[in-house]
Amino acid sequence: MNGTAHMAIGATAGLITSNTFQTDPTTTAILIGCGGVAGLLPDMDIDGKLSNTITFSHKLIRTLAQLVGVLAIIYSLIDRDAAEKWYGVAIGLVLIVGSSFITRRLMLSLSGIGVLAGGLTLSENWLFLLGVYILIASLVPHRSYTHSIVGTAFFVIIAYQFENFLGIDGVFVSCFIGYASHLIADMKLLPVNKRGIKLFLPLSKKEF
Ligand SMILES: [Zn+2]
Repeated sequence: MNGTAHMAIGATAGLITSNTFQTDPTTTAILIGCGGVAGLLPDMDIDGKLSNTITFSHKLIRTLAQLVGVLAIIYSLIDRDAAEKWYGVAIGLVLIVGSSFITRRLMLSLSGIGVLAGGLTLSENWLFLLGVYILIASLVPHRSYTHSIVGTAFFVIIAYQFENFLGIDGVFVSCFIGYASHLIADMKLLPVNKRGIKLFLPLSKKEF
């Protein structure tokens, strides 16, 4: 399944969640966004040998890195005092400039380190863990740990802290369902998938 389909399914999960929580339009948009991004996250591990999906993911990851860079700069300028401010701005600039000319996988590792450092600098635990997630995704084979229960559990912790950070009910549920929808859509039980996912890594390599 390609990135667009995963994002659409994840966004739908966000929409259903906002319906359940009876949210206002702004919150609905945020929840749809959370579901869509969470629905794409497991494929952060794509290894560069895949055809169509790769171009999309490559561009997406680059855009995400630049977006994180811009957000890091804005957040640092608004919220932090002098020394920390320039750390944040520097990290943001490295992400924006760096992401435009380095290779995909290296870019992903560096983005992970950048996000991780941003999380440390800003003392935001969810951001730090997201950086760890991205870094690990850049190092493991495609459809391995990010597509497993262990990976989901790790992401669930990030989503929980992200909801607390935003203070918006439904963020956690949207992220969780969006992420889980990706794994289900990649499972062998769907005829379109020749390969399944190794759900029980590292305990078992059986594909589901
Ligand atoms: Zn996938």
